[in-house]
Amino acid sequence: MTYKIIVQKFGGTSVEDARAMARAIKIVLGHGVSARTRPLVVLSACAGVTNDLIRLSELSIKGDLRPAQTTIDRLEAKHARIARELLGESDVFDTVHRSLHELWESLRLLARGVHQLGELTARNRDQFQSAGERASSLIFQAGLAGAIKDKSIPVLLLDAKEFFVTTNDFTAARPLVPETTRQMKKIARLLTDGAIGVTQGFIGATAEGETTTIGRGGSDFSAAIMGVALASHAKVPEIQIWTDVAGILTCDPRLVRGARSIEHISFQDASELAYFGAKVLHPETIWPAVEKGIPVRVLSSKEPKKPGTTITAKVRNSHPITGIALLRDVTVVRLGSSSIVPDVTLQQAIWDALGETGSVPVAVSFSVGSALYAFRDASPVLALRAAVEGRTMIEVESGHSLVTLVGPGLREHAGIAARIFRSLGRANCEMISYGGSDTSISFLVSSESAGRVVQKIHREFF
Ligand code: ASP
Ligand code: MG
Repeated sequence: MTYKIIVQKFGGTSVEDARAMARAIKIVLGHGVSARTRPLVVLSACAGVTNDLIRLSELSIKGDLRPAQTTIDRLEAKHARIARELLGESDVFDTVHRSLHELWESLRLLARGVHQLGELTARNRDQFQSAGERASSLIFQAGLAGAIKDKSIPVLLLDAKEFFVTTNDFTAARPLVPETTRQMKKIARLLTDGAIGVTQGFIGATAEGETTTIGRGGSDFSAAIMGVALASHAKVPEIQIWTDVAGILTCDPRLVRGARSIEHISFQDASELAYFGAKVLHPETIWPAVEKGIPVRVLSSKEPKKPGTTITAKVRNSHPITGIALLRDVTVVRLGSSSIVPDVTLQQAIWDALGETGSVPVAVSFSVGSALYAFRDASPVLALRAAVEGRTMIEVESGHSLVTLVGPGLREHAGIAARIFRSLGRANCEMISYGGSDTSISFLVSSESAGRVVQKIHREFF
């Protein structure tokens, strides 16, 4: 029997305490282990722990080392409690407890070393930052091995540092896919033969074996890359991302009570919804898997029976609108000039200033003698003022929100735009952008009317 491999990634809130871990373990046994499949479980640190570790790394260069030590003590106590609650007083608990203690001892040593040198390198940061995933995976593996009924199935704790190969850009390392693929061959073999794997997201190592991390929130990316690497050696029918919402929704449920999860979404629609305000995951992190043809499912560990959302490269969609996103309180910059000819050198100055601040407008619109830009926040305003000073009038407005509808219908069905604008009723809208991408349309409304507008449009299309 050759098993297929399902990658199951659990985010921080899905393993935040013993209860959450027990729930995640049930999900592994119910949605990962089957007569034909074995899971590779990819874990985040328990919620909040990575933040604590980053704070800890900074505390360790402070004059007084005690706050750093207290932080480690607190982290040690927290994980010991989770392990005890999950595993009960047992030999297994004692073993896990000892391994955890060694991990925290190594951090104590590291904190003292960094303190003495008075310097915190990016390399050191990664040694601190990687501890959260190492701790959560130690506990989880033991919990899973204890919970599984068929004790003949091995539950392996796989050290990501031994197979997830990255560049040496510490704290922002890039995975090296060919090397990782080569390293994962053995793991693929073990899993297709029937074992379960438990490993860490977010962390890896250089080819020389130095610990790295791949950037905050990186474990989705880890799961995608591991899925891709495994797919070179085995069948990988899907990657499951277990989080605290039941997939990608048609709209923010705090705005629209009827919001429901989208069962199937194309990568492009997911990206556009995320870009324009929907906050479930950063779709670009899962692109390598989608590109390789591995469907990625986003599921809720609190409501595991819900189907969640499956993201694939292309979707045959009967519904014209996939979802609605809202970016609240954008900053609108209005530039006017007395000339009726658009001033190209002025535009040049504006884009140079934006390039320096790294800001990209979420919408732009031009007309004779005036230009409008909408930004997520006010951060580029100072630079823009400086860039146009003395050359043109500049006005900065707040109180606007950007509504974006995403869906294939915008390309294919006539009359969709008319339905949208009809459902706006009396609400004023401006800066309509349509056509930059043929599957999204966005426009500005007053923040005060935004909620109502979104509800109306949602009612019209869902
Ligand atoms: N634990 C890491 C973080 O909080 C990675 C992740 O959760 O994806 O950034
Ligand atoms: Mg996290």
